[in-house]
Amino acid sequence: MVEWLLLLLPVAAASGWLAGKRSAEAANRNSHSQLNSAYFAGLNYLLNEQPDKAIDTLLDVLEVDSDTIEPHLALGNLFRRRGEVGRAIRVHQNLVERPYLNNSQREQALLELGLDYMRAGMLDRAESLFLEALKRKSHISIALHQLLDIYQQEKDWHQAIAIAQKLHEESGEATESMIAHFYCELAEQRWAQKQIMEATQFIKQALASDWRCVRATLLQARLAMEQGDYKMAIVCLRRVESQDSDYLSEILKPLSECYQCLGRQGKFFSWLSEALARHPGSTPLILARAAYLQRQGEQEKSRRFLIEQLRRHPSVEGLQQLLALGMPKDIKAVLEPWSLIEEVTRHLLKAKSNYVCCFCGFSGKYCYWQCPSCKRWGTVKPFIVDI
Ligand SMILES: [Zn+2]
Repeated sequence: MVEWLLLLLPVAAASGWLAGKRSAEAANRNSHSQLNSAYFAGLNYLLNEQPDKAIDTLLDVLEVDSDTIEPHLALGNLFRRRGEVGRAIRVHQNLVERPYLNNSQREQALLELGLDYMRAGMLDRAESLFLEALKRKSHISIALHQLLDIYQQEKDWHQAIAIAQKLHEESGEATESMIAHFYCELAEQRWAQKQIMEATQFIKQALASDWRCVRATLLQARLAMEQGDYKMAIVCLRRVESQDSDYLSEILKPLSECYQCLGRQGKFFSWLSEALARHPGSTPLILARAAYLQRQGEQEKSRRFLIEQLRRHPSVEGLQQLLALGMPKDIKAVLEPWSLIEEVTRHLLKAKSNYVCCFCGFSGKYCYWQCPSCKRWGTVKPFIVDI
């Protein structure tokens, strides 16, 4: 009930403002009292939990002239925010049908109706309203964002690309990376339908939109591998390093496979060593290099390499791989992993959070009695890693 009263507050304010404005006009004294009595009738329906009757009454009373647009919009938007989309649509629809709206009022009302449709999942109707808005050049940025949302939900990637390009032209927003992903979606679709030429073309367009698109490069490499073009695949995979070195872990397996198919594993090893020099401490590279040595039967070399790297760049993954190499023959060498375990765990504990909020997941070094993130009391507790 309190919620309903809160909902009515803006309407009441608008009606009060209206009443004030009208009372200044002596000629309109009549409609002022009419407005108030109808407004209280509407309020009465709300108090009796009859929201639909209340809407009808309020729509009637607010249907006076273009001065009453604001209360309409306020009422409709509040319904939408409360998740009562059907009612929001009724209010906004009623508004749109009024003949007395000026252009900007009608555009605002159509925009709100479009947002109602979005909320209700009626994407077709929302789409046509937002396309209309684009045509009229009103609320362009909101309309473009909503259309972008619609086309992504519908997986209509061509339309999504067109809208993202328009959004970039209109607002300067960076959309290249998004567009590249849309082209990748198209490429994957075509590939699944065995339309390799088209898939290749879309991958090229993805890279033309955003040369840093790792996804496009990985697709290109996989496609080349499938066609047995390992040299081409290697060129693509190695490109990832300059696109975004955070994705190095994604290329190691296919890269090793390509070199193996060409019978040039040695080349893979030299590339690993060079890449490691460019990205010192990169755990995936360290692991791949150690695994390579192990595959060549060089257990001791692999172990020494891991120990040397782990000293400088401790990682759980590296330690695990070292222990998985098994017990060394030389008993003195057993002591090396032992001291490394101590080093790695000490490092891990230093990086770990000591306290975690069991409500929102906030983590930190100190015991806050009130969680700084979710503001709840007594939810931040000591955190111990249990396995
Ligand atoms: Zn919290």
